[in-house]
Amino acid sequence: MLLKSLREQVLEANLELVRRGLVVYTFGNLSGIERGQGLVAIKPSGVPYEELTPAQIAIMDLAGQIVDGNLRPSSDWPTHLALYKQFPNIGGVAHTHSEFATAFAQAEKPIPCFGTTHADYFHGSVPVTDRLSASQIKGDYELETGVAICQTFAKLDPDAIPAVLVAGHAPFCWGPTAADAAHNAVILEYVARMACHTLSINAESRPLARELHDKHFLRKHGRNAYYGQVKTQ
Ligand SMILES: [Zn+2]
Repeated sequence: MLLKSLREQVLEANLELVRRGLVVYTFGNLSGIERGQGLVAIKPSGVPYEELTPAQIAIMDLAGQIVDGNLRPSSDWPTHLALYKQFPNIGGVAHTHSEFATAFAQAEKPIPCFGTTHADYFHGSVPVTDRLSASQIKGDYELETGVAICQTFAKLDPDAIPAVLVAGHAPFCWGPTAADAAHNAVILEYVARMACHTLSINAESRPLARELHDKHFLRKHGRNAYYGQVKTQ
């Protein structure tokens, strides 16, 4: 089977979205990329998660051609490919309609960093895209969604903020691997839920101080990170 290991990783990461309550029915989709071969493994369209097998995971090239698999890929595949092309360090993309993150997307409000939980994962607010125009929606909608995300990150670092809210739609998250993309989708939902509660307690809540935000992000990420155990290999 072509890319058996990647298919298994992508299947497992898709199931993680289900286990964590981020998707209902066939909503959501997650992919992973093998950068050496330029091939993407993505959930097939409309297949119930409980029936998914590694062989059903669709394999596509970055031009959008199906290379292996009998099922159609998730209809959001052009968005996934756009992100892989624009963000060179990412290895996985997750899309869900998780409740609280989607509420922020529908409200067209970025998720502010109110606490260190957010700061551990996202170095800044989680941004929201501009609305797509009528012609973008009528045209290549899923590709235009990817273009809107890339425009939102024109001056942002996708490795430091591994998530976005698509206006009126829902979040897309990413990470170095398919598992990381799922993990970030889970954390995004957790952070969005807490931000919503924070605003309900005090609508005037202030974002975390820049120093504390930087401290928490930079102790886990980048050259001078010191959180966790030293990797021995
Ligand atoms: Zn969607």
